[in-house]
Amino acid sequence: MKVLEERIRRDGIVEDTDVLKVDSFLNHQMDVELFAEMGREWARLYAGEGVNKILTIEASGIGVACVAAQAFHVPVVFAKKSRSKNIAGEVYTAPVESFTHGGVYDIMVSRRFLLPSDRVLIVDDFLANGAALQGLISLVRQAGATLIGAGIAVEKAFQPGGARIRAMGIRVESLARIKCMSPEKGVEFC
Ligand code: 5GP
Repeated sequence: MKVLEERIRRDGIVEDTDVLKVDSFLNHQMDVELFAEMGREWARLYAGEGVNKILTIEASGIGVACVAAQAFHVPVVFAKKSRSKNIAGEVYTAPVESFTHGGVYDIMVSRRFLLPSDRVLIVDDFLANGAALQGLISLVRQAGATLIGAGIAVEKAFQPGGARIRAMGIRVESLARIKCMSPEKGVEFC
């Protein structure tokens, strides 16, 4: 998506060869007009798929998922990163290895908000190694819901997540795919 690529070129900061900072428009300060364009693009790509719920993960996925949900006219559920033990039977949980902070944490979503009848689109800001996405996919599977696919803002295509998830037969639509990046040369898109 040209407009997102241009914005990354203009305002993204390549911290090192594998971390891109986009906190001026995507995951700290948020450009909701840009999010609306992204939401419309995912709605176009997934038109006719009967998406009735968007699933994301706190915290950085929530903003973009909420605005995208307006284009689909569906509710958003965000998986919570839980520190406490959850009561079995009330929630679905999955372990996720953190890309940004290291270590493993659990994500959880209440069984009341993910139903077997749901047709779910997962939305997230970044796809790197795919751990966050795999955790969310696990929650959808546990619920017996139908996974329609994933809408990702920025995929770092040089990291293995995208290939891994697509190899599972899951549709992934990333609006900007980064081929490589460095602080010296900036970002190159696929
Ligand atoms: P994954 O689980 O695919 O390895 O990483 C996904 C999560 O890590 C995203 O939800 C995002 O919060 C964070 N993340 C991964 N790579 C980057 C990056 O280059 N920049 C930023 N700001 N966050 C990232």
